[in-house]
Amino acid sequence: FKTERFGQHILKSGQVAQNIVDKANLQPTDKVLEVGPGTGNLTIKILEKAKHVTAVEMDPRMAAELTKRVQGKPEQKKLDIIIGDFVKADLPYFDVCISNTPYQISSPLVFRLLSHRPICRTAILMFQREFALRLTAKPNTPLWSRLSANVQLYAKVDNVLSVGKNNFIPPPQVESNVVRIVPYDPPPPVKFEEFDGLTRIIFSRRNKTVHANFMAKDVLPLIEQNWKTWCSENDKMIDNDTNIKEMVEKVLTDLGYSDSRAAKMDINDILKLLSGFHDIGVHFS
Ligand code: SAM
Repeated sequence: FKTERFGQHILKSGQVAQNIVDKANLQPTDKVLEVGPGTGNLTIKILEKAKHVTAVEMDPRMAAELTKRVQGKPEQKKLDIIIGDFVKADLPYFDVCISNTPYQISSPLVFRLLSHRPICRTAILMFQREFALRLTAKPNTPLWSRLSANVQLYAKVDNVLSVGKNNFIPPPQVESNVVRIVPYDPPPPVKFEEFDGLTRIIFSRRNKTVHANFMAKDVLPLIEQNWKTWCSENDKMIDNDTNIKEMVEKVLTDLGYSDSRAAKMDINDILKLLSGFHDIGVHFS
């Protein structure tokens, strides 16, 4: 029985399971997506409160246990189980997502939820504590990172519960936190790939200046290539005298971010910088 392969650490305390589900503030009309239900410790609590649950479980043996657990009960009709990998599964409509999934899929889970449409109302997710603290970190604090910025562009994120490793069987190596993600609705009109492309550059060394990060090896050539593609797609003449380094430096100094450091920039700073680059046809994806 390979617990490592699927990251199977089952919640043993019914009280902790209840606390997690309570954080979702479920309404009787809610359709819930649960990722990695395992034997169903969260699922049965969600079924008590919600209208419907779709549970995506990769391990058929776990899915079978969960099926058995609701068999012949009224809850059976409210539960659909999709056997498969959440990352690839077709998702139904859902209002709320609740999950205690293996920590290997933390990032894909968050970004898939944030890009899903229609956007969900809230997500209550268990993560490795270190990942949770990076998700929720604020600018000018040690854990503020590309991950924090990319997620907080789209959602309000809070730590709502910390869960010690001894609440699981078998206990994982690390402590856990439950995070609440409330996506902004409507989402900001920013292409994720663009924002992400810029944060990739400025957070590559978060304590170095933005200018230094743009001057790093391979950055300007890539920007120049993207710019040329943009020009040809938009029927703009490419002037042979164009100096991409000067173009970039002008945006940075005009906006006053040349000597800023990503470690201290907030989402608005990053958005302003992105929009300054877009104004001159410089794109990051
Ligand atoms: N939610 C249950 C609980 O809290 O007791 C089980 C938690 S266990 C940490 C994670 C569960 O996610 C396991 O049942 C595992 O088989 C399942 N799983 C792992 N990777 C998955 C994936 N990519 N898609 C769907 N389920 C997955």
